[in-house]
Amino acid sequence: MALGKEWFTEVCEEHGSAFSLKVKQKLHEEQTEFQKIEVYDTTQFGKLMIIDGFTMVSTRDNFLYHEMMSHPVLYTHPAPNRVLIIGGGDCGTLKEVLKHPEVKLAQQVEIDERVTRLSEQYFPELCDSNNDPRAALHFVDGLKWVKDAEAGYYDVIIIDSTDPIGPAEGLFNEAFYRDCRKALGENGILVQQSESPLYHVKLIKAMRDAMGKAGFEQFRTLDFPQPLYPSGWWSATMASKQGVLDHFREEESQNKSFATLYYSSERHKVSMVEVPLLAAVLD
Ligand code: SAM
Repeated sequence: MALGKEWFTEVCEEHGSAFSLKVKQKLHEEQTEFQKIEVYDTTQFGKLMIIDGFTMVSTRDNFLYHEMMSHPVLYTHPAPNRVLIIGGGDCGTLKEVLKHPEVKLAQQVEIDERVTRLSEQYFPELCDSNNDPRAALHFVDGLKWVKDAEAGYYDVIIIDSTDPIGPAEGLFNEAFYRDCRKALGENGILVQQSESPLYHVKLIKAMRDAMGKAGFEQFRTLDFPQPLYPSGWWSATMASKQGVLDHFREEESQNKSFATLYYSSERHKVSMVEVPLLAAVLD
């Protein structure tokens, strides 16, 4: 079926696949200093944000990604008081992080302020924690922020970036991971969106190899459904300075004071067991 202009389609040429959403209208388009941002109103997925032609966030399914980028790592760390988010301009990850009472400081370092300003306008439900006194939003390059960070300052670093191209390219290499490791405390954990287990196993392996060379000792790649992203199957890779990834604050997770739509303490345990497809390739 030829899709007309009433559809937004992201083509994944390399894998011979595409994902389309039926749209009512384009609400916004601008070229910022860093990237092209589009916002659409869709028929069934609410609002849709696109950056440089790639799907970023939709009203309907962002909970999968934002919950799984934040709750597993935060319930794994013994005391996640200081959290750094690199990227995450739509503020969905920040909102989930701030649901944790242990978090005393959540700094979000997003290179492009326009992403956040447009999210405030079109995804206000993702931004309703931005004024939490524990939140601090900074609009600078995450690479420089981490390089300049105080050694051992953070408990958790969440890298919620775009794909490894453009401004995010440097967020997927050994030098950056070395800086992250230095900025993390002794129980520190890094978690990074690591693309599709179906399409990008080589990238995931390269990320983990670079993290290992940077001095991280233990790794785990969680997988979860994410309809909006290529293949509909996504991942987040955790790396710890020491072997803390099997530590699970299970009781706190079970008794959490906030609702989630995908994450649960049972789901946490399952997601920490790497699928055979990944385990077969990764160390
Ligand atoms: N969930 C989306 C995904 O997996 O593709 C990512 C969400 S968020 C919109 C990604 C953000 O990373 C973008 O807003 C982009 O501006 C930001 N970003 C890219 N490179 C960055 C860098 N070097 N420092 C800080 N933020 C960066």
